Amino acid sequence: MSFDAVVVGAGPGGAFSAYWLAKNGLKVLLLEKKRLPRFKLCGGCLSARVVSLLPEGWQGLIKAVIREGTLGCRGEESFSLSSEKPLAYIVDRAEFDYFLVQNAQRVGVELWQECELLGFEEGERIKVYTSKGEVEADFLIGADGFYSKTADLLGYKKKKFFRSLEFQCLTNLKEGVRIDVGLVERGYAWVFPTNVGIASTGKENLLELLKDYSTKLGLKVEGKVYGWHIPYLENKKDFHAGRGRILLVGDASNSVDPLLGEGIYYALWGAKNAVQAILNCPNNPVEEYFRLSKPMIEELVYAGRIAKIAYRFQRFSYNWGKKGALKAYYRLLRGEESYKKLFFKAWLHLI
Ligand SMILES: Cc1cc2nc3c(=O)[nH]c(=O)nc-3n(C[C@H](O)[C@H](O)[C@H](O)COP(=O)(O)OP(=O)(O)OC[C@H]3O[C@@H](n4cnc5c(N)ncnc54)[C@H](O)[C@@H]3O)c2cc1C
Repeated sequence: MSFDAVVVGAGPGGAFSAYWLAKNGLKVLLLEKKRLPRFKLCGGCLSARVVSLLPEGWQGLIKAVIREGTLGCRGEESFSLSSEKPLAYIVDRAEFDYFLVQNAQRVGVELWQECELLGFEEGERIKVYTSKGEVEADFLIGADGFYSKTADLLGYKKKKFFRSLEFQCLTNLKEGVRIDVGLVERGYAWVFPTNVGIASTGKENLLELLKDYSTKLGLKVEGKVYGWHIPYLENKKDFHAGRGRILLVGDASNSVDPLLGEGIYYALWGAKNAVQAILNCPNNPVEEYFRLSKPMIEELVYAGRIAKIAYRFQRFSYNWGKKGALKAYYRLLRGEESYKKLFFKAWLHLI
């Protein structure tokens, strides 16, 4: 069978890439190895700036509107700051991702679920080997997440990532999120309205820390505690763009915020860049993809600079948050500020 493009992985990066390709007239196959809607471990927190990228109808998926943030230190002391305008929205990832896939199907994307990418062969056209047979395409987008087979086959290795644990739990936060620093060397713990978790780049015993943290906050670790990895990008070279007519998007490309591990926004942004690159330069989209992604990469690099300082001096960061940094971060979540501006404002003591 023949397609213009094959997209691997029906998370936000893949569903969004498939949507934009089909919307621009390409014949698209979307492969997903699981049956949809599928569980995806995630806090499900969409910063308010994501909204401008989302298709109509997403509002029906909102579980909570976040208008208050609490910054804590070690699950002990904390302070809260509210915002009139929404800062973020909590969604269920199984529902959210499936909504994006259905949106792609509506513009003609063909979905093969319970179908795994097994390999590919580059040539005049790309031969794509799947668990349901062989197809041919001009372009391949690998949006197959942290353990991306596409990235692996291109020879990329993941070097920078958070290890994370999370359990689902209806917390007493209805319109708020809480983030605690000071528990791990580089990373944080969180309480969202529907889940509690911890992420770290180090080798600490995260399960013990998560249990202690939950107990301190009066939350019971109930049900299964799930673990997954979150990649991040803090240098230009961490961006795994792909090769030739094979492009990587989302976690597969490491496009995740190194400060807090926010990945959905960058998966959607990267998907738009990848599709635009294919439309602009069908013969060598990967270079164009890199060029179009420069603003996104720069944003993540500045987030990385802030992360390095914030995690090295966690007590200072906590106090700095109180003095004004949290308020400034709210502007970023709402899309009114960039990490680059935040970084320079902090440098010039304007925050
Ligand atoms: C504990 C945790 C909490 C998080 N919280 C947040 C948060 O609150 N907000 C936020 O923005 N980000 C959060 N993230 C990060 C976010 O989940 C990811 O960045 C985001 O899911 C990336 O989307 P993606 O489309 O690149 O990949 P994914 O969402 O991982 O989707 C990849 C898809 O590819 C499929 N796949 C994999 N291999 C194959 C194959 N060989 N063939 C076919 N299909 C395949 C998978 O089944 C999957 O459906 C969190 C991550 C973790 C682990």
